[in-house]
Amino acid sequence: MAKKSNASIETNTGKQTYSSRELIGRFLPYIKKYRGLLYLDLFFASLTTLCDIVLPMIMRRLTNSALGNSEALTVAILLKLVILYVLLRLVDAGANFFMQSQGHIMGVYIETDMRRDAFEHLQRLSATYYSNHKIGQIMGRITNDLFDVTEFAHHCPEEFFIAGIKMVVSFIILSGSSLSLTLMIFACLPIMFFVSVKINHWLRQTQKAQRVQVGELNAAIEESLLGERIVKAFTGEEEEKRKFEEGNIRFQTIKKRFYYAMATFGTSTRMFDGLMYTVVILGGGLFLIHDMISAGDLVAYILYVSTLIATIRRIVEFAEQFQRGMTGIERFIEIMDTPIEIKDAEGAGDIKVTDGGISFKGVNFEYPDDHNKVLHDFDLDVKAGENLAIVGASGGGKTTICNLIPRFYDVTSGCIDIDGQDISKVTLKSLRQSIGIVQQDVYLFSGTIRENIAYGRPGASDKEIEEAAIMAGADEFIDRLPNGMDTYIGERGVKLSGGQKQRISIARVFLKNPKILILDEATSALDNESELFVTKSLEKLAKGRTTITIAHRLTTIQNADRIIVLGKEGILEEGTHEMLLNRQGMYYKLWNRMAALD
Ligand code: ADP
Ligand code: MG
Repeated sequence: MAKKSNASIETNTGKQTYSSRELIGRFLPYIKKYRGLLYLDLFFASLTTLCDIVLPMIMRRLTNSALGNSEALTVAILLKLVILYVLLRLVDAGANFFMQSQGHIMGVYIETDMRRDAFEHLQRLSATYYSNHKIGQIMGRITNDLFDVTEFAHHCPEEFFIAGIKMVVSFIILSGSSLSLTLMIFACLPIMFFVSVKINHWLRQTQKAQRVQVGELNAAIEESLLGERIVKAFTGEEEEKRKFEEGNIRFQTIKKRFYYAMATFGTSTRMFDGLMYTVVILGGGLFLIHDMISAGDLVAYILYVSTLIATIRRIVEFAEQFQRGMTGIERFIEIMDTPIEIKDAEGAGDIKVTDGGISFKGVNFEYPDDHNKVLHDFDLDVKAGENLAIVGASGGGKTTICNLIPRFYDVTSGCIDIDGQDISKVTLKSLRQSIGIVQQDVYLFSGTIRENIAYGRPGASDKEIEEAAIMAGADEFIDRLPNGMDTYIGERGVKLSGGQKQRISIARVFLKNPKILILDEATSALDNESELFVTKSLEKLAKGRTTITIAHRLTTIQNADRIIVLGKEGILEEGTHEMLLNRQGMYYKLWNRMAALD
């Protein structure tokens, strides 16, 4: 469940929306899948721990022999000790190799699974989410933010496990030498624990603020690079630099805050080390003076305390990694918890489009987060195979009508039927497969022309793709390109002209071969000559399909079966071109205004 409205624009306060427990709870299912690897990892972790524990024992034996407190040392005994130690180090090497490789690989598996889930979820989020989130921020969440999950997934169980074993074993061995001294040392631990928890909280906040700010930076860079032509055209470089630098400095400030938290944390652990050693020196010295401990035991004791301190140090160092991982998980879960607003209704079946008749019945619509009614009790019947044109002032809701048919947005109330089936009750996939859309802004993927046309129907044969290109009138320019169909068109098709891009997008729809066609200002961005070509292709495309055409140049829609004039209050006029001119109303005015301009 979402804890906050994910529709809101992200802020960089680093506010936490989930408790650590919740985060771990949500993360566990991802680890569970690889529990075999995890258990092996923990097993090898215990082996390496064992190797760390044995050295002080050997040193105790040596010291006690040297001081005559135990059996004198012989070469045979020494050799036995050394062989034991070397063997253990070899085991340690093997175990360590496994942990370092397989442990991290397990982490990568988990990271990959989470990224896959996040991507799938993102694909299903509605247009509203994308209107309210910057792409750079979203990208950060599913790339960088999840990098640390590998380290987290691997080290988190392992480090805590090792620390646990070491604490327990050290306690048992130490109290064997001197229970009272050991209790004094362990009494220091709660203080350490309390301080760590406090500082950890602070660390996580700064960590999250950092992430948000990195996303902000990415978004700024992305926007500036994508708009590179505009930036150059308006010589906006200085302004871009200023905006970027603002974000850059904000990032610096947040990072500085983070390092203060880190330094406080590090310093507090060093002071804690000092506290433990003070206890050992004072207590151990007193015990030695009163013959309550042997010198060998004290040596072993000090070595164990060092191991214990090293362990606590590791955990503290790990705290940063831990926080980074937790932040990554939190930002991941925020995506996963964003509700999918537009989805298949329960038990939805595929739509069966036979004729392609569309009717809007009492449709009301306002954009989410923006309580402006765009459509008010809107009724419209588009007959099967009809070519309907919509004209009207900009901002009147023409594009909105087009967005509602493939359910990019859902109606606020009322319904839309296609061939008598309510579109909110059929599967999104079947609905969208039966609709072809050509818009003013053409989006092409970086890749070849062939790949871009094939997007219309994955699995189409080369012959079908070529036929689609011919139908769209794209063949003649494609043939002139150096590699024909296999020409690489650059990111978003920057290497093609507007008219060429539009013809490729039309070929894509030809290949898709939908019953219903939506043309939203498809030729508006083109020059007169390209417009002529593209209009011809579109006329061909519209044959035999129910078509809704939106155009602001009225010449392109003169031949429509019916034209409706849309105003703020709904449909103002409707009829054929001739009928509307004879009426001498709104359409007549628009037509004359246009004629005056030409
Ligand atoms: P047209 O295509 O006729 O020019 P639109 O359908 O694009 O008009 O827009 C109709 C109204 O809806 C406008 O007032 C516009 O500001 C608003 N609008 C369009 N898209 C959105 C959106 N994503 N979020 C909020 N309001 C929007
Ligand atoms: Mg529009």
